[in-house]
Amino acid sequence: MILLDGKYTASQIRAELKAKVDAFLAAGHRAPCLGIVIVGHNPASETYVANKMKACAEVGIVARKIALEDTVDEAELLSCVTQLNSDASIDGFIVQLPLPPHISEQRILSAIDYRKDVDGLTAENIGRTVQGLPSIVSATPRGISELLCRYHIPTEGKHVVVIGRSNIVGKPMAILLMQRPYLLLPKMSAAAVGNATVTICHSKTQHLKDICLTADIIIVAAGSPGLLKADMVPEGATVIDVGITRVDDPASPKGYRLAGDVDFENVAPKCAYITPVPGGVGPMTIVSLLSNTLQAYEIHR
Ligand code: NAD
Repeated sequence: MILLDGKYTASQIRAELKAKVDAFLAAGHRAPCLGIVIVGHNPASETYVANKMKACAEVGIVARKIALEDTVDEAELLSCVTQLNSDASIDGFIVQLPLPPHISEQRILSAIDYRKDVDGLTAENIGRTVQGLPSIVSATPRGISELLCRYHIPTEGKHVVVIGRSNIVGKPMAILLMQRPYLLLPKMSAAAVGNATVTICHSKTQHLKDICLTADIIIVAAGSPGLLKADMVPEGATVIDVGITRVDDPASPKGYRLAGDVDFENVAPKCAYITPVPGGVGPMTIVSLLSNTLQAYEIHR
């Protein structure tokens, strides 16, 4: 069994991104800039934003945080998005989710110019991905694609079972896998997965175990700790665990630990490759936001 080390792979990609940014600076160009809009004081969101800003700093991307109180109304937030769309000094931006309940996430996301949508969540970007056109793909599917490519795990002709159908992970992941491989954006060093036979499973799927037992690769993004058990995994499969759930753990100093969707201890011995949680998909997701920002920069520059 080989552990797919997302932490190490992400550090390699960060080094590559930093070298690219340094080369742009040396050639007299300005640094790439990522806008991060955060509304309110959700502690988890504040932690995610702090981590993203730290990751940007490591590779030389300027992160500009726009912090708004949760009293902001939808019209004000929309006007902030419009300003960012037209601000030539910002290459891409994200609106940290979730938003307060009085604001429609859909309306806010729809207002983002897809060329600056480095979270890859606009209908335009998702639609372009479906059509095989250059697009910005959301960070987690992109990170998983990079991980598979860098470990030389082929997807062509393989049966990939994706558990979870969210717009942010399951759906775009399935689309990338079933496509003819293509460059996500013209100037990127592509993480080209594709040509797989894909089955998408979700909470209403029947016979999940039987389906999983026919898989070469299982990607599980359900948010249900320990969902994928050893008797669901064929010998020699590749298992990618996207799930991150906080579960109480009095033995941990924080009082909780992060649990994946895979019963790792029992599943790992059956696998050819498997991601750990933490240290697998999580770091690949963060670095992919940086890769997306650099791509947006390269397109605008
Ligand atoms: P979500 O929470 O929006 O949806 C979960 C999906 O899983 C749904 O489509 C649902 O139908 C399916 N599902 C739930 N229980 C199931 C079951 N028992 N059997 C089959 N399908 C089931 O999904 P999300 O936003 O994609 O997040 C999924 C998990 O991945 C969460 O734990 C989230 O925290 C984590 N996540 C991790 C990263 C990362 O970087 N590692 C990034 C995004 C999400």
